[in-house]
Amino acid sequence: MEGGCTCGQLRYRLTGAPLIVHACHCHWCQRETGTAHALNALYEADRVVHTAGEPEIIDTPSASGRDQKIARCPTCKVAVWSNYPQAGAAVRFVRVGTLDEPDRCPPDIHIFTSSKLRWVTLPPDARSVPQFYDLNAVWSPESLERRRLMRERAQKRT
Ligand SMILES: [Zn+2]
Ligand SMILES: [Zn+2]
Repeated sequence: MEGGCTCGQLRYRLTGAPLIVHACHCHWCQRETGTAHALNALYEADRVVHTAGEPEIIDTPSASGRDQKIARCPTCKVAVWSNYPQAGAAVRFVRVGTLDEPDRCPPDIHIFTSSKLRWVTLPPDARSVPQFYDLNAVWSPESLERRRLMRERAQKRT
């Protein structure tokens, strides 16, 4: 899958399937996207390859009190992915709307639905949680294995 910013200077390619796709209805995501919820496909950093241009990384306040790092096109400033402090630099939250075919990454789970806008109606079979969730209970076995490998690599580096 490929995607990029609006002006075309920044392009990226994703390797394989996402670890999971979050629709986040928290107020912070609503404000940052200017709409009802964010849609983020989570990938290991090395599976998000920049094929044209390099993003600028903007420190942005987040709910945790520690900065979220948002990767934006240096020219049109569209955000293509971000790092959240909880997951660190190892995981990139790719903004699904910047994919050439965003329909290929439907949400696996809706999170922070306690602040979901009233007029947003989820499909009856949609998985949703009022806030966050236990990764071990929700992620696929394949994704949990990828997470284990990611942690192993991170430990080797330190
Ligand atoms: Zn651009
Ligand atoms: Zn959010």
